[in-house]
Amino acid sequence: MTPSVNPSDASAEGPDLIPHRLASAPTAQGMVVPFVTLAHRDRSRPVWGQLDATRLRAALVERLCQICGDPLDDPVVVYVRPADFLRGIAVEPATHRACGAYSTRACPMLAGRIHRYNPVTRDRFARCQDPACTCRYWTRGEPEPAETPREGQPADAWYEVEIALADYRLADDPDTARSSAGVGIDLRHPTFRRIRRIRDAAPGTDDRQPVDPLAMLMVVRELFRDGGPFA
Ligand SMILES: [Zn+2]
Ligand SMILES: [Zn+2]
Repeated sequence: MTPSVNPSDASAEGPDLIPHRLASAPTAQGMVVPFVTLAHRDRSRPVWGQLDATRLRAALVERLCQICGDPLDDPVVVYVRPADFLRGIAVEPATHRACGAYSTRACPMLAGRIHRYNPVTRDRFARCQDPACTCRYWTRGEPEPAETPREGQPADAWYEVEIALADYRLADDPDTARSSAGVGIDLRHPTFRRIRRIRDAAPGTDDRQPVDPLAMLMVVRELFRDGGPFA
């Protein structure tokens, strides 16, 4: 998942080891700047927590990794919240396995070190001196930073799911409050090859989601490990 929070919130352990695949990726504060993160033309100057709507849509439609921006390969890693699973659509672009593993270590939200999505203040959209940078459009829209309705909200539980590249299909998302790209990755048809819970919901928010369907799915898969509908 895109690190949607300021890395200064990270623990004092320092930046995690950057995998080979991301060796030439831009970094800021020691963290890789994901392909889909809004940034100045000098991509080592990101606006942490904001998505670039054009890149977000390109990643989803062109099957690019949201971290490195290269074409996905098999298996595809998708980040899913219980509510996404219920709606049958993942709004986050997918990642390579190595890029996903890096972001679950480096992103304070996915690593469970913080419990609230980072609110974004307007001064974080400060313009730079580069006349070729599109940041001059940021406050007027066109292209606008993607809406991030999660800002300031308590963290959700997140799961990491692996699907086959051949199962990667887009689904329209009519709920534009949740998906600025208008599309997401179809979760209704692919077989989940692997599913792993990577963080719990923020403390005290469990009552928002009486039953976590992905937790149930993991239990059912365990029961039917040697056969049955999820084998
Ligand atoms: Zn700029
Ligand atoms: Zn990647």
